[in-house]
Amino acid sequence: ATPTALMVGVARAAQLGVLVKGPEALEATRSVDTVVLDKTGTVTAGRMSVVATAAFGDADEREVLRWAGAVEAASEHPVAAAVVSAAGAGLPAVTGFEALVGAGARGEVDGVPVVVGTAGLMAGLGITVPPEARRWLAGLGAATGVLVARAGAVVGGIAVRDTVRPSAADAVARLHALGLRTVLLTGDGPGAARAVADEVGITEVVAGVRPADKVAAVEALRAAGHRVAMVGDGVNDGPALAAADLGMAVARGSDVAAHAADVILVREDLHAVPDAVELANRTLDTIR
Ligand code: ADP
Ligand code: MG
Repeated sequence: ATPTALMVGVARAAQLGVLVKGPEALEATRSVDTVVLDKTGTVTAGRMSVVATAAFGDADEREVLRWAGAVEAASEHPVAAAVVSAAGAGLPAVTGFEALVGAGARGEVDGVPVVVGTAGLMAGLGITVPPEARRWLAGLGAATGVLVARAGAVVGGIAVRDTVRPSAADAVARLHALGLRTVLLTGDGPGAARAVADEVGITEVVAGVRPADKVAAVEALRAAGHRVAMVGDGVNDGPALAAADLGMAVARGSDVAAHAADVILVREDLHAVPDAVELANRTLDTIR
């Protein structure tokens, strides 16, 4: 590959809204055989809304939403934005806020500890998840359910839903037509993950994955002999982007993701992924 032709390829990619960090990334793009896509904010738009709430024991649904909203007001996760918007104005202040990346958030509201997040997070913090809460989570189907605990007890649940990007199904079909295998990788539960995968035509799903395990999932595919592109947006996707043969960060992604990426997709459109692969193929084909 001549340096000039590669630079022309990099420039053409930029016109398509694909920022390639140098000629090596273009070569890596061509060699990829597996595309791993993060779900929230990558395949979906990352704009969630609350579709259901529940209160367990003698808690009240409005109160559950307010306690959760107070904590989530300090979080940057798409789930948090949905909870805050549903909780309404005049939320109490949170102190000692802590983001529990890929799992939830916690803080003190009116001096009482409140945790919002996955059932796995609750278990990890030694908070018992009552059967009532497990049944509620199991019945949510395509929605994502998070639990709310106050003073060490699960008091309610909040279900949110996201919409898939309009371009996602066509973009996935193009990746398959290019002979690439697709995998949906997410920290979300299997129900919500399967629903999104089915909607966009992704066949393989790896769900319930904690941030550190996203790296392990990418490494396992590489160890099996695959050349892996990872497409992600979130703060917690940075390490997985770096672990892949090719890291692709989508627009509006966090700085952490962008720094770890070889390719930045500045279009809010998943067609940028097959566009990048086609362009790399064409550029490198004409050179050889
Ligand atoms: P994804 O892999 O789909 O981008 P994340 O790894 O960011 O998802 O988060 C995994 C799961 O952890 C979410 O589906 C949600 O259930 C939970 N979670 C993460 N952050 C929060 C938060 N601030 N509030 C509530 N739940 C959260
Ligand atoms: Mg994400």
